[in-house]
Amino acid sequence: MNKKLRKTIIAGNWKMNMLASGIKDFAEELIPLVPGFKAWCDAVVCTPFVLLPSAVKELGGAGIGVGAQNMSQFASGAYTGEVSRAQLEDVGARYVIIGHSERRQFYGETDTSVNQKLLAALETPMTPIVCVGETLEQREAGITYELVALQVKASLLGVSPLQLKRVVIAYEPVWAIGTGKTATPEDAGEVCGAIRDVLAAVYDREAADAVPILYGGSMNEKNAGDLLAQPDIDGGLIGGASLKPASFAAIINAANQ
Ligand code: PEP
Repeated sequence: MNKKLRKTIIAGNWKMNMLASGIKDFAEELIPLVPGFKAWCDAVVCTPFVLLPSAVKELGGAGIGVGAQNMSQFASGAYTGEVSRAQLEDVGARYVIIGHSERRQFYGETDTSVNQKLLAALETPMTPIVCVGETLEQREAGITYELVALQVKASLLGVSPLQLKRVVIAYEPVWAIGTGKTATPEDAGEVCGAIRDVLAAVYDREAADAVPILYGGSMNEKNAGDLLAQPDIDGGLIGGASLKPASFAAIINAANQ
């Protein structure tokens, strides 16, 4: 399938950074640097929960989507400290990252909780971005492909072919996140291609060909063009570089190819 038929998504992950007071400046710097971006990609920033309303206010008008970085698998009730899907929707979140490796590493998230959160997100109009990826130890043990395939299959358990049309997958090798080490474009592209093959085996080729697969892991203005040129890479999930308007804008513009 021609990748141009799939949606290109450039999504920033601000992690636990930024203050509400800084978002106006961020927006004022970013927006003029990405004229016409809607013609070639969906640009998104995934912010800490408390910043969602400010981000929607400052960036939403320019057509930049706003998303959360996590979400409870439960609908409502006695889950102290958690945020529900209805609450995210209510403040204007249109995307939600699910199963980021930092959630798996520091907060005990598993493929099972990722699956529950994905199913919950699919009950809303939000677009879930499901993260998968191997650690350095797993890569060195030569089990990248098996591991990522298992993560994809386990995360998608119970997701119907119709629901799959709304899912975005992000391949993020854990060893490349926040380290400055990037997978080579070919390597990243091959794993994304393997993820698509897993989707084709579980669903079918047509369904697999329609799923946007993003790469994440130290993507920046220098390497974005080569990574995004890979046939199976349909966008990026960007941490550090998404906090700098000029760098984030350069990546958004690199997606115009
Ligand atoms: C991320 O947070 O998902 C990420 C890829 O971070 P960075 O771009 O900083 O490696």
